[in-house]
Amino acid sequence: MNNRKTRLVIKVGTSSLTNEAGKNDLREFDRLSCVISDLHNQGYEIILVSSGAIAIGSNKLGMKERPTSMRMKQAAAATGQCSMMFLYDKFFSDYDKTIAQILLNAEDIQQEEKKENLTNTFQALLELDVIPIVNENDSVSYTEIESADRLFGDNDMLSAVVAVLCGADQLIILSDINGFYDKDPRFYPDAKLLTRVDEITPETYQLAGGAGSKRGTGGMRTKLQAAELATAQGIGVHVINGKRPDILYRILNGQEEGTYFPGKH
Ligand code: ADP
Repeated sequence: MNNRKTRLVIKVGTSSLTNEAGKNDLREFDRLSCVISDLHNQGYEIILVSSGAIAIGSNKLGMKERPTSMRMKQAAAATGQCSMMFLYDKFFSDYDKTIAQILLNAEDIQQEEKKENLTNTFQALLELDVIPIVNENDSVSYTEIESADRLFGDNDMLSAVVAVLCGADQLIILSDINGFYDKDPRFYPDAKLLTRVDEITPETYQLAGGAGSKRGTGGMRTKLQAAELATAQGIGVHVINGKRPDILYRILNGQEEGTYFPGKH
């Protein structure tokens, strides 16, 4: 690793960036931008994977509910992506940081040539001290938006794919809950937080129920899939509560928070 900086991929979901009323959670945008900028100042290289475009777009367009038709979802995604990047640019600029937008589809990662281009782009941005912000290109891809068993599942899988592609040291997934429990805490008040999961087995998947809030879409299942993919490539994965971005400081100090899936070496 020589003098290489520690490279982090941080994933934030729709439920962290919007409040109960479905409006933009500006305090969360601000806190997240502040903590990430501060960690960047400490010498970490950071790539942020952010969902939220459809929810933010539906809100901006005055839609009462998240749209159901494909064309309306894609329209909301196109509108929301722009608003979301505007918000990030505004808050990150307050902390003197430059961001860049990268929109991806599954094909971009499956084709060797595109994959190489993408890796080079990430590398160049990181060299320039930029914080890339990645999202699925929802306005053109339909499989991920529509399918119940989405490949990228609200970007959890996308964040793992990006972490592998960029050779990240750690993947940190911010959730609407404190971590991975032995059963879904929405239904079982006695559910216990699992602080460390060394092996992800078929039994582990059985502990994960569906998605939590109506704004989140992936649930713990897609986080386990993401953790399985990243840990197999030696990348440690943390699942922590996104409403408390300051936890990032503690896990990077080696303190126990949320659930840790150690990378396999
Ligand atoms: P986000 O992507 O913002 O974290 P999701 O709703 O996609 O939001 O995923 C988190 C939700 O997964 C939790 O709110 C919880 O209700 C649900 N869930 C299901 N099974 C579990 C489990 N075993 N441990 C923790 N959360 C679980």
